[in-house]
Amino acid sequence: MQAYRFALDLNPRQERAVLAHAGAARVAHNWALARVKAVMDQRAAERTYGIPDDQLTAAMSWSLPALRKAWNAAKADVAPWWAECSKEAFNTGLDALARALKNWADSRTGKRHGRTVGFPRYKSRRRTTPSVRFTTGTIRVEPDRTHVVLPRLGRLKLHESARKLARRLEAGTARILSATVRRDGGRWHVAFCVEADRADRRPNRPASVVGVDVGITHLAVLSTGELINNPRHFAAGQYRLRQLGRALSRKTGPDRRTGRRPSRRWQQAAARLGRAHARVANLRRDGLHKLTTRLAREHGTVVVEDLNVTGMLANRRLARRIADAGFAEIRRQLTYKTSWNGGRLLVADRWYPSSKTCSGCGTVKAKLALSEREYHCQTCGLIRDRDGNAAANLAALADQYDTAGSGPVAGRGADRKTHIGGQVATKRQPGTASAGQTGTVPPQGETANRVLTRAH
Ligand SMILES: [Zn+2]
Repeated sequence: MQAYRFALDLNPRQERAVLAHAGAARVAHNWALARVKAVMDQRAAERTYGIPDDQLTAAMSWSLPALRKAWNAAKADVAPWWAECSKEAFNTGLDALARALKNWADSRTGKRHGRTVGFPRYKSRRRTTPSVRFTTGTIRVEPDRTHVVLPRLGRLKLHESARKLARRLEAGTARILSATVRRDGGRWHVAFCVEADRADRRPNRPASVVGVDVGITHLAVLSTGELINNPRHFAAGQYRLRQLGRALSRKTGPDRRTGRRPSRRWQQAAARLGRAHARVANLRRDGLHKLTTRLAREHGTVVVEDLNVTGMLANRRLARRIADAGFAEIRRQLTYKTSWNGGRLLVADRWYPSSKTCSGCGTVKAKLALSEREYHCQTCGLIRDRDGNAAANLAALADQYDTAGSGPVAGRGADRKTHIGGQVATKRQPGTASAGQTGTVPPQGETANRVLTRAH
């Protein structure tokens, strides 16, 4: 499964048609949600009167086929205009609701890990990203590779060539499963979900290990000592974000309490800011794609840090936030690219102190301020760039993983004790306690003394 995403150039008529379909998806979603809620409330009310369970109003099934059946029975009353839109539009909304309800139910019963999922909410016309997904009907790329054909919407012009997808389709190594049209950052895109046959590949250097530390001033730092710079124009884009943010704050925005509507100039400024955000995100994603493709093709093993969720939430600085977003993205891309290229991705434990550890002797510092850009080791005298030091530590973890196998890395706790001497980190994060004395189990039920987990 692979996605291909292309920017679209829609004319005003096509844009209206897509918006109508996205609106239809929203209507079906909200209608079905209201139905589900009404039935739930009714049953809850009946229970309070002491009505036995078998005499309650019949429960409503949340599966997509059931929701679709209910919608088809009611659509003539709810949406007399239903025939103007493809049935796929209503399916988009109902499918989203079915999945949201399932996630909520699974989260409540503990079947789903991670953050608690709330009950689905109504989709607002203003705040929902317009999107519609087609799974059946004519979905194809035209032979000129610059147009696509979708059901009801017809022939849409692409902003860029779809040659990469077209080549695969023509060679018969890919099959389109669905096409989604949506608006991201003020621009329309079509994303094809494709089932692709991939040839077996080997990395160029199967025995090579590389650690990757995602940075703020740089896109990433590799354990080889290489600095990957941010893409061109990235800094300028960030400067413009601040500028536009300030400009927006000077205009008359919406106010919930007083019911004030935003001014026209505020809306224009907000749109400009949104486009600038999308541009910075695109620049960064492009740089990350180039980096991860190179890493996965070249090295047999890539080691990255786990996502630090609490750190992400705590940080309010723009540069840091963007770096954190890159963090999640780099890991996502490496997960599938290493598997395509026959390599492997190792993820260091969330609490592994990659920045605080000396890559020369293994000493762990108790404290390392973010402003300290160079790592100075008091034990062995090592002086190294902060991110390079962290990347080297990550790369070294691969050896530990290979010698210890997939079980808990047993030697690690004892090993460190012999090294650290007077430099013990006094305030340890949960999970860094050495094997056998672990007190806290980190979220998601993972065992705490595991240094590395396979990404997939
Ligand atoms: Zn040292």
